[in-house]
Amino acid sequence: MAECLFCKIINREINATIVYEDDRIVAFNDITPQGPTHVLVVPRRHIPTLNDLEPGDDQLVGELIRRAAAIAKSKGIAAGGYRTVFNTNHDSGQTIFHIHLHLIGGRALHWPPG
Ligand code: 5GP
Ligand code: ZN
Repeated sequence: MAECLFCKIINREINATIVYEDDRIVAFNDITPQGPTHVLVVPRRHIPTLNDLEPGDDQLVGELIRRAAAIAKSKGIAAGGYRTVFNTNHDSGQTIFHIHLHLIGGRALHWPPG
């Protein structure tokens, strides 16, 4: 997707602090962090929203979640706790239409969210 910001980060056309990558997944720091740790875990493949996932994507989604947990462990926030969020479409506040798992932690987080 030529106009997708996260595709451009994945393709190194836009800078980001990349904290993990493999052949299917890239994880980078959010530009406006909502906590001491705020990482976005994304698939390399452009998928606009969770509504666009297909059965064949089950393994990929599992990898996104397990990678977020691994990054949380590597940053020392796993035991204390962290939040993982996928926003979907307008009512959730989704602004970038390339699925991304927010990993937020390093401070106490409130619930329910706003
Ligand atoms: P959403 O609201 O779609 O769930 O989350 C999009 C996230 O992308 C936001 O947390 C926002 O701060 C982050 N973001 C927007 N533009 C950029 C950018 O250019 N670089 C990085 N690293 N993050 C971005
Ligand atoms: Zn994209």
